[in-house]
This record gives sequence, structure tokens and C-alpha cells, in this order.
Amino acid sequence: MRTKVAIIGAGPAGLMLGQLLSLANISNVVIENRSRDYVEGRSRAGQITPATVQILTESGVGARIHSEGMVHSTLQFHYEGSTRELNFQALTGRTVTIYGQQEIIKDLIAARLKTEFPLLFDAADVQIHDTDGFSPYVSFSHGGEQQTLECDFIVGCDGFHGICRPHISDSLTQFSYNYPFTWLAVLAEMSPISPDVIFSSHETGLALFTMRSPNVSRIYLQCSPDEDPNEWSGSRIWDLLQLRLEGRPEKVNGGAIIEKSIVQLRSFVAEKMQKGRLFLAGDAAHIVPPSAAKGLNLAVSDANILARAFEQHYGKGKEDLLLSYSDIALKQIWRDVQFSHWMAMLLHRFDDNSHFHRRLQIAELDRVLGSGPAAQSFAELWVGNPPFAAS
Ligand code: FAD
Repeated sequence: MRTKVAIIGAGPAGLMLGQLLSLANISNVVIENRSRDYVEGRSRAGQITPATVQILTESGVGARIHSEGMVHSTLQFHYEGSTRELNFQALTGRTVTIYGQQEIIKDLIAARLKTEFPLLFDAADVQIHDTDGFSPYVSFSHGGEQQTLECDFIVGCDGFHGICRPHISDSLTQFSYNYPFTWLAVLAEMSPISPDVIFSSHETGLALFTMRSPNVSRIYLQCSPDEDPNEWSGSRIWDLLQLRLEGRPEKVNGGAIIEKSIVQLRSFVAEKMQKGRLFLAGDAAHIVPPSAAKGLNLAVSDANILARAFEQHYGKGKEDLLLSYSDIALKQIWRDVQFSHWMAMLLHRFDDNSHFHRRLQIAELDRVLGSGPAAQSFAELWVGNPPFAAS
């Protein structure tokens, strides 16, 4: 088998890149090691920036996000027993959309299946070869048969635990920071208790209330690093959420828990995101704590920059965008890493010297929510930049 671009991983980065390349008629194959059911069922992100909505729309997969997505204009910050609002639409003229990551995945897979380009699920023993030369290839087994995919380029969109970043680890500079707490992530059959996302910074820890649809709520609760999700019964979850919302009018009545898991919080960046004929995109190259909801949006942004670079390479024979992919992508990535880290430091309980941290957090929250320029700056970072466009 031969193609121009081999894409490893059918998450948001891989499927988005595949869609953009297919639209540009650049042949590509997406190789995924999990099943279609698994990939379509994995519930993670939900807060979609205007840039991501624009890229999805312009690539022909925006119909459902426009009809089913929940458009948001305001965030609520609850601390010291009272709530202050930040209307980012009033400050920036832009909104964000709540739409589940798995719905974006379903939309991208449905669009992909209408193209002539392969999307292979359940591939086993995926390995990449000769990425420093002009004839890289991917080996894997599929449907019980050993396969070789020859290509011009390989793009590693295989997430944080994939195989592509380790392939070039000797040439990477890696930056990481592990936060001293985790999140208990809960998906529940429960109508949203508020029309807006609520960040509660309570003295016992963060609670983040958000939603995925009119009937499904998403709740994140800060907890310790060694937490076992099985020890979190429904009543324990709802009692802690209620405690962390104290001072607000809502009564948390709970609902059937669809899913609960522990999310490790870390910041991680690998530089450069390219070597020879191998490129990295999305979580394969960087991770942000989900406090500012940027991970999926960055994955889509990387895919968009790379797609423009491949369009220039194949359409105009120009290499400059391909060569500067990493430099362009990293500007946005570090901006979002910084913002996500700042949000994490602002809203969580820190056990060491907690009274001191708390006073700093309250001063910072008062500053951001009380001053026009600080609120403006926050709002612009929250909604994010417009998509990259090749000049
Ligand atoms: P992934 O989604 O990890 O996809 C990688 C794919 O590669 C997977 O399908 C995997 O099976 C496949 N793969 C792995 N290894 C191989 C292999 N060897 N061969 C073939 N395939 C392989 N982001 C936001 O923007 N907004 C949010 O609100 C938000 N909330 C989040 C909440 C939680 C609880 C979590 C955990 C994350 C959240 N994120 C959010 C982050 C977001 O989910 C990720 O950043 C996003 O999934 C990254 O997409 P990706 O395609 O780079 O990687």
C-alpha cells in the first residue's frame, strides 16, 4: 500500500488532519489501534473554541455542532461563598460551544467514510520506520495480515502514550510539570444545574461544573493523586459538589452516573514537533491540564497548520511552511500551556502553605473579575485565537 501522508491515530488530531488533506485531495491513510466503538465512545473534551468550530465548519463537518452544540457566553467563578460572572462574549464578541469530543469524532468518521481514503481501526503492532530518509513507512497488522504502508510523510497523532514521540525522543527537548492533585471526572444523567459553566474555588478544592447536553452534566472534582474512582459513590460525589458550591442557590439532586474516572493533571511540551519526515500533532506532542479546556482545540489547531503546510508542499512545491510547522504551532501551544497552568494555579487547593496560596488566589480572582483590562485579557485567552491561515 502507498499513500502521501500516513497518519497514526484516529483522535481529534488524526481525523481532523485526514479530513483537511482529503478535501485538498492529498492521499492519506489513518491507522488506529483501537476499535471504532472505542474511539467513538471515549468521552473527554467538550468546550470548543470559535477557531475549532470554524475549522470544522469550513471542512464540511460543522452541521451537528451548529444544530446540537450549546453556545456559551459567560463563565461563573464561585469563591469565598459568592459568585462573580465573566461575560466573555461581551468582551470579545465571540462565544464558545459545548459539544462532546466523541460527537466531533463521530462527525469526522462519518465524513471520512464518504471519501476514498482508508481509515483502519484495530491495527496491531503499529511501527514507524526510516523517518529520517526520503522513504518512510509504517508496518502493522490488520485483519490478521501483516501490512506495509509506504508514504512521503508520517504524522504521529497517537496521543500522549503513542509510539511516534518515543521514536524521536533523542532529538526532543521535553518540558513537563505534574500537578500535586488529580480530578475525579464524572459524567451523569442530570440536567445542568446552571446555564453557564461554574468554576468553584473552594477551600477544600476545585469543583468544575459543566455539561455535554441538556440532559447530561460533566462534573470535575479536585482530589488526591492516589484516588480510586471506585471509592466515590454517587452520594459522596454529590455531597462534595454541594459543599464546594456552598453559598449558591442550587440543590444538587444528583443523577445516574454514566462514567467516572481519575484524570492526571500535567503540562508537557516536546520540542521540536518534527524531525525528518515525521511530524507530531496534538497530545502526542503536548498536554495541558484541562483547567482551560484547550487540549482538543490545540490538537485541531496543529492539524490545521500541518494541512496548510502539506497543501503548499504538494500544491506549490513550497517547503517553508512544512519546515516551520513546529515553530508556528509552538507559539499557540506555549500560550495555551501558560494560560492552562495559570488557571490551574488560580483555582485548586494547594496543601503546602495553603493559607498563603489561598490569599494569593483570592487577590488574583478579584483582580481578574474586577478590572476591565484584566477581564479582557482573560476573555481573549479563553476564546482563543482565530485559526492559522497560510499567507
Ligand atoms: P487522542 O485523543 O489521545 O487520540 C490519539 C489516538 O491515537 C487514539 O485514538 C489512540 O487510540 C490512538 N493511538 C495510540 N497509540 C496508537 C498506536 N500505536 N497506533 C495507532 N493508534 C494509536 N480538551 C479541550 O480542548 N477541551 C476540553 O473541554 C477538554 N476536556 C478534557 C477533559 C478530560 C477529562 C480529558 C482527559 C481531556 C480533556 N481535553 C479537553 C483534552 C482532549 O481530550 C485531548 O487533548 C484530545 O483528545 C487530544 O487529541 P489527540 O488526537 O491529540 O489525541
